[in-house]
Amino acid sequence: MAKENDYDYMRRELDKLDAAGNLRRLPHLEHDGRFVTADGRRMLNLSSNDYLGLATDKELRSEFLGRLTPEAFVPSSSSSRLLTGNCPIYEELEAELARLYGREAALVLNCGYHANTGILPAVADADTLILADKLVHASLIDGLKLGTARYLRYRHNDMKHLERMLHEYAPTRKRTVIVTESIFSMDGDEAPLRQLVELKKRYPGTLLYVDEAHAFGVRGRRGLGCAEEQGVTADIDFLMGTFGKAAGSEGAFVVCSRTVREWLVNRVRPFIFTTALPPVNLAWTLFILRRLVKMDKRRKRLAELSTRLHRALHEWGVPDLSSSHIVPLVVGESAETVLKAEALQRHGFYVLPVRPPTVPEGTSRLRLSLRADMTDEEMESLIQHLKDL
Ligand code: PMP
Repeated sequence: MAKENDYDYMRRELDKLDAAGNLRRLPHLEHDGRFVTADGRRMLNLSSNDYLGLATDKELRSEFLGRLTPEAFVPSSSSSRLLTGNCPIYEELEAELARLYGREAALVLNCGYHANTGILPAVADADTLILADKLVHASLIDGLKLGTARYLRYRHNDMKHLERMLHEYAPTRKRTVIVTESIFSMDGDEAPLRQLVELKKRYPGTLLYVDEAHAFGVRGRRGLGCAEEQGVTADIDFLMGTFGKAAGSEGAFVVCSRTVREWLVNRVRPFIFTTALPPVNLAWTLFILRRLVKMDKRRKRLAELSTRLHRALHEWGVPDLSSSHIVPLVVGESAETVLKAEALQRHGFYVLPVRPPTVPEGTSRLRLSLRADMTDEEMESLIQHLKDL
């Protein structure tokens, strides 16, 4: 039996994190649609990834529930997909994704973290070199670390740097995998997908992995992401997206070739060794997906709100590299960022500080996740309070 002082090393580290303003705590939150209440204060939720307001849309829920029968409400898959968890709704959802993207195949996984930590180690062996953008998400970094492939990071969105690396290393490797996000989760800026595709084509044996977690649902004519917007869905070897953000559900997918899908089914450990998603969740995802492709009004609204905020920041001369609905305001020190987040919360906006290790030291920031269901008045008030910070 462990003694209390066996945990002293943890206490010391936690105290250090606290002193640096970097201690994470689980907030106690009550949810009411777009709003959250914490410590008795009701605030507009600008910290979730419910960009289109689908996760909080009661009408959609009622419609879905109205069709649900006890037979269709299957709350558990009770095993891995490779055992008995592979129900027909999985196949329906994957066929729909493949059809929408115009690709041979799609594979649904339990979440984006599973996809990113599972696919990279599965496709990249000791003969592979991975070249990953410096700012890719923690789940992709964990995927790099879990695998046996050597990896290098290129400077954020720096295509010249990436090309130098490809030029130097690609000829010496059996294959190279370029890894990027499309909209970057902490910076809200975008990868130049067309240039990445060009580079991939120029260096034979190069595969391209794009994480569209923050673009799926939001970008492109049918909300399929930045690859759809830039006309390159056919050229991405692993086009990964998640359902837990704009799609208001849970889970992730990768669209790819039939061969790649078969390989993933045989090699991705977080796919093989986990209980499949519950069929009721897949039914909800499919229900949403069929509507999401037609939600251009919500996508347009989100784009308008984003432009409004970017314009205001530009007018005040605030550095703003984002080109999306994710708008980071870099403050610098964690303690000051926490104070600014609290000030916005006092004014009714639930904005959180993002601190190391999620972002590099000295770049703590407020991360605003805009949502299509914000009113004009809320946006004007937000802009005013940001100005006064
Ligand atoms: N990729 C990116 C870019 C993300 O931001 C996240 C989650 N924040 C994930 C993957 C993980 O997705 P999930 O939440 O479905 O595990």
